Amino acid sequence: MRHIAIVGSGPAGYYTAEAALKQWSEDVRVDIFDTLPVPFGLIRTGVAPDHQSIKGVSRRYETTALSENVRFVGNVTIGKDIAIAELQDLYDAVVLATGAPNDKKMGLPGEELPNVFGSASFVGWYNGHPHFAKLDPALSHDTAVIIGNGNVALDVARILAKSQEEFEGSDIVAHALSALDASQIRRIVILGRRGPHQIAMTPKELGELGKLARACPHVDAGDLPDEAEDAALDPGQRKSVGHLRTFAAAEPCADHDIAIEFDFFASPKAILGTERAEEVEVERTRLEDGKAVGTGETYRIPAGLVVACIGYQTSKIPDVPYDDKAGHFANQEGRIAPGLYCVGWARRGPTGTIGTNRPDGFAIVEKVAEDIGEGSGKAGRPGFDALADSRGVDYVKFTDWQKINEAEIANAREGSPREKFVAVEHMIDVVSKD
Ligand SMILES: Cc1cc2nc3c(=O)[nH]c(=O)nc-3n(C[C@H](O)[C@H](O)[C@H](O)COP(=O)(O)OP(=O)(O)OC[C@H]3O[C@@H](n4cnc5c(N)ncnc54)[C@H](O)[C@@H]3O)c2cc1C
Repeated sequence: MRHIAIVGSGPAGYYTAEAALKQWSEDVRVDIFDTLPVPFGLIRTGVAPDHQSIKGVSRRYETTALSENVRFVGNVTIGKDIAIAELQDLYDAVVLATGAPNDKKMGLPGEELPNVFGSASFVGWYNGHPHFAKLDPALSHDTAVIIGNGNVALDVARILAKSQEEFEGSDIVAHALSALDASQIRRIVILGRRGPHQIAMTPKELGELGKLARACPHVDAGDLPDEAEDAALDPGQRKSVGHLRTFAAAEPCADHDIAIEFDFFASPKAILGTERAEEVEVERTRLEDGKAVGTGETYRIPAGLVVACIGYQTSKIPDVPYDDKAGHFANQEGRIAPGLYCVGWARRGPTGTIGTNRPDGFAIVEKVAEDIGEGSGKAGRPGFDALADSRGVDYVKFTDWQKINEAEIANAREGSPREKFVAVEHMIDVVSKD
């Protein structure tokens, strides 16, 4: 019998469990730990609340979760409640699937000013992540600046721009919905250091911006390269750039309340303000060998809210080697140390789609299989339960999550699939009711 601990219940964690079941069938026991009492990582707290079909992937993880050989051990933080060395004593393999939940720093003056956020916290706020539910961003000024040219920047822009009606069918949390209802933001500027050909935005997400009820996207036609140059792009990128061309060719946004402006070749230099963010200082750039190079020309954008969508880093765990430059665990194709592995964003950083984590999970199980053979008689589940008992760690099971899930569905406002609990204690209240 092999005993495997997976730390993190996001896509990478569940794909790894799925692969372990496929590899060993009845001859494996998998425990999936998570800090939160609720599973599925960024599927719940990252993927946009108005993209419910994408969130539907969690049904696939449920099939794995309901296998008798897999269990969810929620509300337990590895590295705090239980040390890595303790897990290694109990399980043949420990696979870290902890994602990359921390915002990369911009390294700009003024970054610490109130109402300047990284996307992990801002997205966590509107998605009801308990760590960010109290963020309370002020949306009381005319302009928001979003820094970054990826899909997360588009998510944030779209959420700030949507009308209340457009959130129908989404699971945006009530506190965000009411803050957005009162929002005064009428101009959203998306800053990118490079140009339209260098965006990391997918066609579907860009296309959505052109269909919003009260907001209209605008691109300065002068920022676009000659159309003939699009031929060299891969088909997806060509389609994305095609959307930018459509936005550039459209009439100015006269009959819309909110303008979404793409400001390309624009590198933020500082956030200025006294009590909170008031302006972003920007330097105009040009491309040299594909890199953005400052031109020395600067300008300021008045902005009461700044959201940096520039990437994420894995959280450190005591005694686990970490690559500071890369921002994730130090590893050789997923191997960290004997018996210790990493997968998903914790292995490779915040790149790819949800599906990218599947081959990652299957690849790590192959390595585990090479390394652990038939298992070495470690204590596994019963050993963990004894340790948790002795330490007073009261964990949440998958059946407990199902109760939380039912309560969230029962609490849903009309037209919404659920109203999420945004505080861990409220989730635990549901579990401890009977
Ligand atoms: C804002 C945003 C929107 C996105 N939208 C899309 C999209 O529309 N489509 C798409 O394909 N991809 C999207 N992605 C990417 C996708 O979410 C990731 O590829 C995927 O979630 C990474 O999976 P993971 O399992 O590595 O990490 P995560 O999903 O982050 O899961 C990590 C889990 O580990 C837990 N954890 C962390 N530390 C500990 C610890 N010490 N102890 C116990 N548990 C711990 C966390 O609570 C979390 O549940 C989006 C990402 C973001 C940030």
